[in-house]
Amino acid sequence: MNDPTLIGPCADYEHDLVDLHDGTLPPARAGIVHDHLGHCARCQSWLTEFTALDVRLAGELPRVLVSSAS
Ligand SMILES: [Zn+2]
Repeated sequence: MNDPTLIGPCADYEHDLVDLHDGTLPPARAGIVHDHLGHCARCQSWLTEFTALDVRLAGELPRVLVSSAS
């Protein structure tokens, strides 16, 4: 149970964390989420894991697109 991706972030913030990561979260809401991240280790850990996972997926995506396009 030490893997934050299995535990997940707070339900109220999960979608906000994804939007924050994507840069699509409204600034007013982003401030609230950042404030929450400041005192919620669970959401912090989840966002870190999510970002790492997203980077890995982004690194693999171009190869998938190239192979399917050819
Ligand atoms: Zn939280």
